[in-house]
Amino acid sequence: MDKNTILKELQKINYPGFNRDIVSFGMIKDVIIDHKNIIIFLSVSSSNEEKKIQIIQEIRENVKIDGFQLSVKLVEAEESRKTVDTSNKHLNVDGNIGNIIAVASGKGGVGKSTVALNLACSLSLLGKKVGFLDLDIYGPSLPITFGINENPEIKDGKKIVPLEKNGIKLMSFGFISGNQAPVIWRGPLVAKMTEQFFRDVEWGELDYLILDLPPGTGDVQLTLSQKIPMDGAIIITTPNDISLADVRKGADMFNKVGTRLLGVVENMAFMKIYGQIINANKKQTITINDHLVNVNEDGTFELNYSLFKKGGGQSESERLGVSMLAQIPYSQDLMLSIDQGTPIVFSDDNSDIVKSFKSLAQKILDHANSE
Ligand code: ADP
Repeated sequence: MDKNTILKELQKINYPGFNRDIVSFGMIKDVIIDHKNIIIFLSVSSSNEEKKIQIIQEIRENVKIDGFQLSVKLVEAEESRKTVDTSNKHLNVDGNIGNIIAVASGKGGVGKSTVALNLACSLSLLGKKVGFLDLDIYGPSLPITFGINENPEIKDGKKIVPLEKNGIKLMSFGFISGNQAPVIWRGPLVAKMTEQFFRDVEWGELDYLILDLPPGTGDVQLTLSQKIPMDGAIIITTPNDISLADVRKGADMFNKVGTRLLGVVENMAFMKIYGQIINANKKQTITINDHLVNVNEDGTFELNYSLFKKGGGQSESERLGVSMLAQIPYSQDLMLSIDQGTPIVFSDDNSDIVKSFKSLAQKILDHANSE
């Protein structure tokens, strides 16, 4: 009788409602075999008591070893998850910050910075004091995306004072290095510099600090996730297979360092195609790229066309057991707003894209309130 035999049995138990087992979800914290006793330490982060009871019941039914007495001990999810003590945040960060939320992606170009920035702006619109830190040392985007590029004040030769625009405190490597990325720096140095940079900014009072992490899930990101006291993380993906495989890596990374994964945002999930047929007949149907589309009586029609793969992000997030926080459409207006340095959520329009960012921000607030 050994630990592996028991783990194999536990691997047969899926988390209720998912196709993934409780071992791969990291819920089994330890298995101790002591004389004729087997003790399983279980950690379930869900606040749903029914799910906890169901899992314990299934463990009791599945792990039946003759001559051994089985007991299941529930351990606090928080205790086991946090490797960086966020309750002592003030020791690691200059300022009094309610929540530090990291925005990550498996690779570049999926819209991580775009989503991170619009999330920060939406939180600010919801009345929160917000800071935004662009930690991408090689490709800082904030000077362009927020249309601001000034040299920050350095206090007493060591503390960096964030810039401020639209009521949001902003800091980026781009403000310091003038976008001249030190490309010869290797991983460990990049991680060290990034962490140092994080500590050197004087934030003051903030409800939320949004971190735009460098793209990828390599050593740099892992070190940052270990060293920076993050309260939660969001992963941005596009719905195609390669990006989704990266979501799994990102989720594993945050699991490893004990950072709570708040959910996944699927960017460029679909594109709204709309138009009108002039002089349309009643009950017309047209096809757009093999999709049958019904035309309304006034000739108007619309289709949410999937640019990549339909529902890819949804099924992947279900498989990983994390929530799908938002599905952001492909939008030319969004792209232009990024190029022009005027975040779209600050525009007056109440388009789908603006609504989807506001609803994302509301979910992040709800998460914080439910803790
Ligand atoms: P990342 O931070 O992942 O590298 P960016 O946020 O810099 O990606 O976005 C890459 C490019 O894609 C930018 O030009 C941005 O304007 C564009 N983009 C991002 N999201 C969307 C979207 N939903 N619709 C249209 N263009 C987008």
